[in-house]
Amino acid sequence: MNEDKRMTETLPKLALIVPVFNEEQAIAPFVNKIADVLVGFSNKATIEICFVNDGSTDKTEQIIDEISQSTLNIKTINLSRNFGKEAALSAGLDYTDADAVIPIDVDLQDPPELIPEMFNLWMNGAQIVNARRITRDQDTWLKRTSAGAFYKIFNILADHPIPRNVGDFRLLDREVVEVVRQLGERSRFNKALFSWVGFETAELTHERPARADGESAWSYWKLWKLALDGIFSSSTTPLRVWSYIGVLMGVMSFTYSAYILIKTLAFGGDVPGYASTIILILTFGGFNLFALGIIGEYVGRIYTEVRQRPLYVLRQGRLRGKNDMHLNE
Ligand code: UDP
Ligand code: MG
Repeated sequence: MNEDKRMTETLPKLALIVPVFNEEQAIAPFVNKIADVLVGFSNKATIEICFVNDGSTDKTEQIIDEISQSTLNIKTINLSRNFGKEAALSAGLDYTDADAVIPIDVDLQDPPELIPEMFNLWMNGAQIVNARRITRDQDTWLKRTSAGAFYKIFNILADHPIPRNVGDFRLLDREVVEVVRQLGERSRFNKALFSWVGFETAELTHERPARADGESAWSYWKLWKLALDGIFSSSTTPLRVWSYIGVLMGVMSFTYSAYILIKTLAFGGDVPGYASTIILILTFGGFNLFALGIIGEYVGRIYTEVRQRPLYVLRQGRLRGKNDMHLNE
């Protein structure tokens, strides 16, 4: 049988995609930890660690080079400058040829212990395996509440909800990666893209530990910008809501103008010039909002068009997974 041959000939390739930005202290502990966790894994899969060096200015690159002399399968992609984690992650997804990938942070906040279980769920047929944090005790109060508020607002506004407290740490099947690569938009909020594509999704839960070394490179300002990116690139609601507000305000303005007009004509004005002034203001205000709303509708549509997302995504059946499992049984 075809599958039988594939199973015996090659092991599936699993790539860990690790964006790194000035992480010289974190690289060695990360690689050691991965080696520890995945000891004995080599008969199940070929593991590759793919570092995406996001324009680090410290010794990150040298250290990766040194470590890659050792036995582990390490690959590096260097970006020309710091483009931010989302771009670095996209680069990693673009340049991988693995059967499944797991984006993972280098600071060990995404526990590598989950990798074997993610892998098993994948072998059982899931094409996406999410790792959801059940507690955020390690985060500050401000970060917890702001993150909570973000997920709430995002899920109200966006066309496709994202699962709460699932970061970039998840397993993606090759088929999913290929779909994600095809999405045409430039400003990328990977979490939303991963959930937009669909596919059979499994979930694991874990507690997120504190950062192993150094400090988070995400200031609140950067997080705020990321949140705005996420919301505005996943939803046209903030734009289109003005059509409704415009119509509503327009109707109210016209009604009130009519009332003032009739009242002034029937009973005379209290203050000379008041009726004409207020009617002009309300009429133009109403027209303005109404026109803005119409423009908003068109801009929203243009935005949806330029993203060039596919109209639909096919699920083409897996190269690996369910079938292989049956073979093992
Ligand atoms: N990172 C990156 N480019 C950046 C900022 C961060 O590649 O501009 C990497 C960083 O090296 C780490 C991961 O993204 O591997 C997560 O960063 P961090 O731990 O600072 O974020 P947090 O855990 O606070 O979300
Ligand atoms: Mg971190």
